Amino acid sequence: MSEQRFNELRGEQVIYAIHRQDRTFLPTREHCPLDPTRPGGPETEIPVPAFEIAVFENRFPAFASPHGAAEVVVYTDDHDGSFATLAPARAEALMWVWRHRYIELGARADIEYIFIFENRGVEVGVTLHHPHGQIYGYPFLPPVPALELAADARLGGCAPCALLAAEIADASRLLYEDEAVIAFVPYAARWGYEVHVAMREHRPSLADCSAAELRSLATALQSIVRGFDALFERPFPYVMAVHQAPTAASAGGPAGSAGHLHVEFYPPLRTAEKLKYLAGSEQGAGTFIGDMIPEESAAALREAIARGG
Ligand SMILES: [Zn+2]
Ligand SMILES: [Zn+2]
Ligand SMILES: [Zn+2]
Repeated sequence: MSEQRFNELRGEQVIYAIHRQDRTFLPTREHCPLDPTRPGGPETEIPVPAFEIAVFENRFPAFASPHGAAEVVVYTDDHDGSFATLAPARAEALMWVWRHRYIELGARADIEYIFIFENRGVEVGVTLHHPHGQIYGYPFLPPVPALELAADARLGGCAPCALLAAEIADASRLLYEDEAVIAFVPYAARWGYEVHVAMREHRPSLADCSAAELRSLATALQSIVRGFDALFERPFPYVMAVHQAPTAASAGGPAGSAGHLHVEFYPPLRTAEKLKYLAGSEQGAGTFIGDMIPEESAAALREAIARGG
């Protein structure tokens, strides 16, 4: 279905999922494939008249068994709204669904890294507006989590634990906290309004979290996203990336792996109208040039989160 090639100069895998060119692109509201199949209505991806959260294999997968997995996670059967507007109990249930998929996919021998993510907004290439996210099970350890594990090695311990301690000590970029999670604009953010939400205690994955921690995580994520929407008073595009321990046997399995559960948001907006493009320096040299200092974005986001409720 898809082909994998190793790019020598970048030292990374590239996936060719040619069939994805035919995937459903911004269908009209009446033909949303993520709606439930209502009596008398068109048949959708979800063959039931109502549901809470639905998970199914992506029909246009970048990865498929026995070389990984690609799943779609639909947050609600309500076409309108977003992750931010889910009832708190639904957002909490979503954390349990993520956890379940992490454990189940993580047990598979053909999967080394489980990546839960959401792309929101046409600015980041969304083709379906219905509130949903995705899960990729990579048959290899991708470069970003590999770099995070390299940071652990460089710092001689868990990098997210060390960075979290530094953010708490500094406090100027903190956005939100409770007893289980802390959200902040990272010291060296790449994106103007980049936000990280990290577990306060060292938790390699969702599988290591208590019920209370999962509830806190859901609340924090919703607060951040509501703050994003309040910032410019418009639906705020972002990529949400859940980073956890690799599940490869070589990395010790879900419970014993290196890694520290955190969620990163990469919003492409730098003002209400202007997008940050990855251009010469970012693409050709790999160095981000920002136009706003993280402490300033944190101050603006703190105010927006307060307004977003
Ligand atoms: Zn829909
Ligand atoms: Zn840690
Ligand atoms: Zn990360």
